[in-house]
Amino acid sequence: MPRPWVVRNSPRHGKGVYATAVIKAGTKIIEYTGELISEAEGERRYPTAPDGHEEPEHTYLLTLDEHRVIDANVGGNAARFINHSCEPNCEPIAYGDHMWIVAVRDIKPGEELAYDYAIELDEPHTPSRKKRFPCRCGARRCRGSILKPKYQPLHPLVRAAIRRYGPEAEARRAAGARR
Ligand SMILES: [Zn+2]
Repeated sequence: MPRPWVVRNSPRHGKGVYATAVIKAGTKIIEYTGELISEAEGERRYPTAPDGHEEPEHTYLLTLDEHRVIDANVGGNAARFINHSCEPNCEPIAYGDHMWIVAVRDIKPGEELAYDYAIELDEPHTPSRKKRFPCRCGARRCRGSILKPKYQPLHPLVRAAIRRYGPEAEARRAAGARR
């Protein structure tokens, strides 16, 4: 199957990735590639801006697990252009050392792919820090910030997708198929 997406300019922010065909829920759409580094190395490469300063644009870092991040500035592919939305249609899910962008619901051709960045800073998410990470996703229930909300769990679609399509579910299906 040819890749069901294309990169083009997005009204949300810079470039975006758009579906060109129906993408079914649970599809591993594209791997988020880049250099696998420690969280500390990521912080060293791209320090958080001090208060009162804008965050630098275009630092493509994605958290893989508790200790590691993927730096898509080094060896990154089109996945790094996927924008944030507070009402996402996909979600990065880690399968071992590989991060895949997985559809959390059926996606129609022409829709922009977007996942919830849910960025967690080391410092508390104060109103001024939230302003440094604004969200312009346009969703009806937009949080106004791409930072992770403290008391609100992930979007229900995302939670369900992780359960249904994540690495444990995949392993269960593989075990079932072998029987
Ligand atoms: Zn938003």
